[in-house]
Amino acid sequence: MRSPALKWLFIAAFGADPKQRLRIKRSLMAATVYLLCIGLQVYAYYVGYMHLDDALLLSAACVGNIAFWYAVLRSGINLRFQDPSLTLPQILSSLTIIVGAYSLTGPVHGSTMMLLALVLVFGIFNLKAKGAMIAGAYTVVIIGIAMGIKIQTDPVHYPFKLEFAHFWMTVAIVPTISSLAVQLSNMREKLKAQKNELAEALTRIQVLATRDELTGLVNRRHMLDVLDQHQKRLQRSGHHRFCLAILDIDHFKRVNDTHGHGVGDEVLRHFAEEAQKVMRDTDVLARWGGEEFLLLLNDTSPALANIGLERIRTHLASIVMAPSQPGLTATFSAGLTGYCDDEKLDVCIERADKALYKAKRDGRNRTVVQASPVELQDSQAAMDALQQQPSASDTVS
Ligand code: GH3
Ligand code: MG
Ligand code: MG
Repeated sequence: MRSPALKWLFIAAFGADPKQRLRIKRSLMAATVYLLCIGLQVYAYYVGYMHLDDALLLSAACVGNIAFWYAVLRSGINLRFQDPSLTLPQILSSLTIIVGAYSLTGPVHGSTMMLLALVLVFGIFNLKAKGAMIAGAYTVVIIGIAMGIKIQTDPVHYPFKLEFAHFWMTVAIVPTISSLAVQLSNMREKLKAQKNELAEALTRIQVLATRDELTGLVNRRHMLDVLDQHQKRLQRSGHHRFCLAILDIDHFKRVNDTHGHGVGDEVLRHFAEEAQKVMRDTDVLARWGGEEFLLLLNDTSPALANIGLERIRTHLASIVMAPSQPGLTATFSAGLTGYCDDEKLDVCIERADKALYKAKRDGRNRTVVQASPVELQDSQAAMDALQQQPSASDTVS
């Protein structure tokens, strides 16, 4: 772990935003080229190939360039541009300074050509296709101009024959580097598109795996996971009790037979949509199969959960079940029970299912509440306690 003072220094130098930090680090890494440039000038001056004034001017340009880009990136001005890394402008300014070095280093000027290649290689990894082509063309043009001027002004150190060979090499190598950069950029774009497609496909697979396609509700498989989580949460915490209800649309076959399967689907979709409008946000409704739904009611007892179910019933009775069939209404029957500590989920669901069949037998459009074994035991114990209490007349006699 870094000490707080070092951490503060690091943030002061590079900022707190990780993306900006990376841009600054990259820019400073590229600045090593300038340091190499300065090193060459020191050498050229030391061996007498360069005038002190030229060496100082060029070194000042190198340092100024590093400071300028650092200030732009650290201040956040770069964020106003389409490419906040400002890769192309940084590369163009580097190329300009290297061509400056080429023009001022006299007999050792040929060695600066390596730096041109180095800067263009930096671009390979960061430039887009168009930027790479611009950088390549810019290099050829400005080195050509510099050579032309130097042939005229300093033919001793920049003889035409030598400059011709240098220019020949530039024209041969720079477009190759640029075309590599273009290819790499296209590959990056392709990879990016594939990555996006993959992410979309993954999201779609996730939706398909957890949601019912018709109603958009949680599907049976995912609901079993949800129930499993709730069961574990209850076991760990001892509270967060929950109830389960199975809801089944009454005489749904008739809807299909009378109005067609399409209207049947519409009713199912509408049922899911409308029920969710009046449910608690924390409750979960799943399509359990066909025209059956499993409702998980959180942090509640069967008696209170029943109030929630009646709210759904009242709401559904007040609306049209399929917008394409204005007269169509639908009711549902439900079996409701509370989850009892440590019992298997299947057992609880089975109890709700039995209650549902009782609701159907009793005439439909109703909820039957089936007490759990624990609740039955508790109420039996309460009854026994009541019976064992001495009556008022016993006390008097
Ligand atoms: P009950 O009141 O006893 O529940 O009668 P019901 O007609 O609702 O029950 P039954 O089990 O006899 O019929 C259920 C129907 O639900 C039969 C089946 O074709 C239909 N069904 C199941 N899944 C879908 C679906 O995705 N879309 C449509 N339109 N119908 C479905
Ligand atoms: Mg059914
Ligand atoms: Mg039904």
